[in-house]
Amino acid sequence: MKAPDFAYARPTVLSEVFDLLDGDGDVRLLAGGQSLVPSLNMRLSAPSLLVDINRLPGLSGIEARDGVVRIGALTRHGEIARSALIAERLPLLAMAAPHIAHAAIRNRGTFGGSIALADPAAEWPACCLALGATMVVASRAGERRVAAGDFFTGLFATALRRGEVLVAIEIASPPAGSVAHFSELARRRGDYAIVGLAAQVARAEDGAMDPRLAFFGVGDRPVLAEATRRVIAGGGGIADAQATLGRDLAPTGDAECAGATKLHLARVLLGRAMAALRTRGDA
Ligand SMILES: Cc1cc2nc3c(=O)[nH]c(=O)nc-3n(C[C@H](O)[C@H](O)[C@H](O)COP(=O)(O)OP(=O)(O)OC[C@H]3O[C@@H](n4cnc5c(N)ncnc54)[C@H](O)[C@@H]3O)c2cc1C
Repeated sequence: MKAPDFAYARPTVLSEVFDLLDGDGDVRLLAGGQSLVPSLNMRLSAPSLLVDINRLPGLSGIEARDGVVRIGALTRHGEIARSALIAERLPLLAMAAPHIAHAAIRNRGTFGGSIALADPAAEWPACCLALGATMVVASRAGERRVAAGDFFTGLFATALRRGEVLVAIEIASPPAGSVAHFSELARRRGDYAIVGLAAQVARAEDGAMDPRLAFFGVGDRPVLAEATRRVIAGGGGIADAQATLGRDLAPTGDAECAGATKLHLARVLLGRAMAALRTRGDA
């Protein structure tokens, strides 16, 4: 199918974007277009105006500044996969990147687009939750920062307000001794996950673990498994953690999988993660 008619603008300054977002009708930002354009072509959405943000300066790139790694919203998935800074400072993102779609989509799709879209089965929102990321949001009123834990508010829903643009994501380097773990189950490599786990795990010298476990594909948004975290931090074993996971997750079924099956798969991923983390020496 072809997209419905829409007007198109390609501003080069942010203030122009704010003007356009203030206009009447359904105005949408266009970043990599890897989710928005298919949704237009399938006639799932019919915006009156697309505001292409790809020519805006300063929204791309990865840099270390003021104790955080700042990833511009327009940074492509592929740039994150290839970044030496990301591999060194935020290996969780480097682990997750190859699971996102296919090379062509990773070359166009953007970090910010994925975060703003908030697909509950997407990799980046869960990684941001596990890493305690901060979303930097701009509007005519200035900038505000939103913690990842407050940003994802429901199915394809975020804390972004009308007139706002996600400009960057800031992530503090995990403390020394912390390790990352990423795994997902998908029907084929490149498909959205049926269930996935992004984990950033602080480890003490005696081997005790304090994990931030962000599961995705298990509900309307990524979920931090807090009760399970407490059990593991308190010295609980794999079986204890797997049993507790049912208190954190209540997956609903989808076209692919029943909710109970998703919970089972999440427990499998958790067990594998704990076993792998116990044998890893790269703290
Ligand atoms: C075949 C296929 C397979 C895919 N598989 C996966 C997968 O396995 N995992 C995965 O995570 N993704 C997957 N994707 C989606 C892909 O990762 C997209 O790149 C991503 O979801 C959206 O990024 P984008 O830059 O393309 O955003 P766009 O499609 O341009 O925009 C998406 C939405 O976000 C809004 N938006 C974009 N940027 C901003 C911003 N800076 N501020 C505010 N709002 C903004 C847009 O208005 C729009 O509503 C797949 C896509 C395809 C076509």
